[in-house]
Amino acid sequence: MAWDIDSTPISNQKFGRLRTRLLLSYLFVIASILTTFSVVVYALVAHDRHQQLNTHLRQVASASASTLEIIQHEYQELTTEGEYEEYKDSISTEADGTVIPITLSQLMRKYKADSDVDFVPSALAFADQGVEWFDPQQQLIVREGDLFPVTPLPNSVSPEGVLVQHGKIRSFILPVQLVSPSGTSQPLGYVRANASITRLKAELHRFRSGLVLGVAIVFGLVTLGGFWLTQESLKPILRGFEQLKQFTADASHELRNPLTAIRASIAVMQTHPERIHPADVDKLNAIASASTQMSQLVEDLLLLARMDRQASDQHTWRKIALDEMLEDLVDLYSDRAEVAQLSLNSQLLPYLEVYGDSTQLHRLFTNLLTNALQYTPPGGSVTVSLQRRETEALVCIKDTGIGIAPEQLPEIFNRFWRADPARRYHQSGSGLGLAIASAVVQRHHGKITVKSQLTLGSSFQVTFPLA
Ligand code: ADP
Repeated sequence: MAWDIDSTPISNQKFGRLRTRLLLSYLFVIASILTTFSVVVYALVAHDRHQQLNTHLRQVASASASTLEIIQHEYQELTTEGEYEEYKDSISTEADGTVIPITLSQLMRKYKADSDVDFVPSALAFADQGVEWFDPQQQLIVREGDLFPVTPLPNSVSPEGVLVQHGKIRSFILPVQLVSPSGTSQPLGYVRANASITRLKAELHRFRSGLVLGVAIVFGLVTLGGFWLTQESLKPILRGFEQLKQFTADASHELRNPLTAIRASIAVMQTHPERIHPADVDKLNAIASASTQMSQLVEDLLLLARMDRQASDQHTWRKIALDEMLEDLVDLYSDRAEVAQLSLNSQLLPYLEVYGDSTQLHRLFTNLLTNALQYTPPGGSVTVSLQRRETEALVCIKDTGIGIAPEQLPEIFNRFWRADPARRYHQSGSGLGLAIASAVVQRHHGKITVKSQLTLGSSFQVTFPLA
């Protein structure tokens, strides 16, 4: 399992991430609301428009149904009676003998000659519609309009009528019954009212485009507002965080002097052991050790506070030969490794130089190396290596120690964080070593990565741009 951090200052990086997370959550909520709103509005409008078209088709069909009996009667007259011979020319047949249905206007030509009455239903006054009248055998006899599906009527049609759609034509088919005064009914035929859904589709398409555009504009404005809102909402938190950092820096600074005085007094007392009561020697040693630990903690806190507050002062930077620095460090800690029964090895590529603050870099590698030595049981090994990776120097400090659980890897660079096994293994740690290490890496525009497996060991890799 590996974990890495990048090279922006920790607080900026964390607040930047928090701001992005807040903004993304806010935008996600708004996007969900807008999407749900547009889908619901579109579904309601589309449903309503389809219903309107269906209602229109039903109205046309039932208006046309009332004329079926007359139409059948007129058709019969036209086709059978000799006096209408001159109007018969409108009835023609296909090559296979099937009769081509005539239009209502053609059927009523014989009356139209003497009257101004328009026999075409007013509902058909606009384009993309059609009505067809069928006999009881589903044979089409008359039609009007300009839209007719090529499909035949379905075999069975419910008495209330049925809506069907073929391609871009929607039809309402209504069976017509002739009810005699005695109450008996007999099938008279069928009426089919047709309308094109192309116009409706185009209308809905325009509505959808308008909705999408509207939602996009609102979303754009909300995003801008979201930037401003998250910025504003984080300001008090940032202010509080700055005050906390200031407090830590001030408190550490104020603690430094009394601690120095305590340590100096203890040192003076220890130079005159004859003046100390034998029963108090152990207590004095414990006080000396605790005050040294506290001083170290205060120094670490001050260093972190300083690195948090000040931009890196690159005037003090110089070229540092990493191989020499690491070699010295390995030499320095070889005795300690021997006492802890660990093998401390180094594989250092020479002549790799980076720009930086030697004190801070020394501190970084010391923290990583002491951790490796502290958290590796006797018999294990620690290896410090230095390699070149393209334009970077890569320092790797690897141990065969207790390792870190994968879920704890994101935590290890947090201040005062210590894993439970580490607390048991080495009690006097403060949990600031890796926080300092990562702050130093960030100030040097580097990158720190950890790979670790519980009980098998850890490997901390640090890269810096080469000088
Ligand atoms: P400290 O070592 O004083 O506890 P650090 O900040 O240096 O604090 O380390 C934080 C924690 O990360 C340690 O307490 C330990 O749990 C874990 N850790 C760091 N280095 C190692 C390592 N080499 N092997 C195992 N655990 C480690």
